[in-house]
Amino acid sequence: MLKPNLSYGNLKESYLFFHIARKTNAWLADHPGAHLYRMGIGDVSLPLAPAVIEALHRAVDDQGEKDRFHGYMPECGMPSLRETIAAYYGKRGVSLSPEEVFVSSGASDELGDILDLFDRSNRALIMEPAYPAYVDANIMAGREIVHLPSGPDNLFLPLPREGLDADLIYLCSPNNPTGSAYNREQLAQWVAWANARGAVILFDAAYEAFIEEDLPHSIFEIPGAETCAIEICSLSKTAGFTGTRLGYTVIPKALTRSGLSLNAMWVRNRTTKTNGVSYILQQGGAAVFTEEGQRQIHDNIRIYKENARVLMAALDRAGIRYWGGKNAPYIWMACPGGMDSWTFFDRLLDEIQVVGTPGEGFGACGEGFFRFSSFGDPADTREAAARLEKLLTKLKSADHA
Ligand code: PLP
Repeated sequence: MLKPNLSYGNLKESYLFFHIARKTNAWLADHPGAHLYRMGIGDVSLPLAPAVIEALHRAVDDQGEKDRFHGYMPECGMPSLRETIAAYYGKRGVSLSPEEVFVSSGASDELGDILDLFDRSNRALIMEPAYPAYVDANIMAGREIVHLPSGPDNLFLPLPREGLDADLIYLCSPNNPTGSAYNREQLAQWVAWANARGAVILFDAAYEAFIEEDLPHSIFEIPGAETCAIEICSLSKTAGFTGTRLGYTVIPKALTRSGLSLNAMWVRNRTTKTNGVSYILQQGGAAVFTEEGQRQIHDNIRIYKENARVLMAALDRAGIRYWGGKNAPYIWMACPGGMDSWTFFDRLLDEIQVVGTPGEGFGACGEGFFRFSSFGDPADTREAAARLEKLLTKLKSADHA
């Protein structure tokens, strides 16, 4: 009889956002017609840039013309797009060949699929609080997980330390959910650690476009990373592609383990397991990297950053401690009065109709913290910030009474 993958039995019962949706839907059923201020979602709210829309339309028209029609695309990505992305890295001083860039259908797909390259016996180190898919994808693969907790003491940026042992290292910078971002010296410590032990870093750069300080956007800005890192990136948050789906993965040719090239293994994987990303989407993605596309996506990012500024100003006035918000679209706050994060979630929903994300959903060390996203509607964000400030100020004065 067929034996299913029993590792699925080790997954936590319900996914964080599913649980939030269940709670908010139940609340809405009890309060018909009420409006919720949704500051929890990691989805974007602004439409695609005009340059992208034009490119998508042109590509659709191409598909209707015999001499411009495209069938199967190269599995690892359209050569011109691979070149364009390599040139995007070049602007930051990172020299890549187009063959080191793989066009993907998004970071989530890649974060799961890339595990094909590694033996199940490898231990996966996950800095926490973490994007839940890192943990779940490794549980599904039956891999042992080493949880590396972080907290206010290290500003949610854990570093390698004595006794730490793992083969696959997940780093997400700027971080979801904490909004914190590593500097060069900190990333250099991880690169040195990974190279010394022959480990591989999976660097999630999904939020690189939100960086405004002088911080690395890519792990490959760190010398030595080309022999120990894979970078996974996405246009989802950078350019509003959450529903359109396009991303890219960088695997340097210098990255080898046990005499095998991980780049060559990934080519073999993609040419077996995919038939390439659609021509239309790759044309839309290419438009993001044009001068006009870059200007337009940064106009949108500025709107999200203004949302973050409004939320941070409200927390500042209420005297609440928080992290992030500057180089990432997430603000990570300490729940008031030591409240647990699901209780705080319920109070925000019941008392001010603001929906956020409880920190506990990102790992045990996220308990006592709460995440707000700056991807919401600007008017809703302003109203949510005003309501939040009022409630937090009330809770604080009750605490002192
Ligand atoms: N990585 C991180 C850290 C994320 O927060 C997300 C989405 O929220 C993803 C990856 C997934 O991105 P994509 O939409 O490209 O699958």
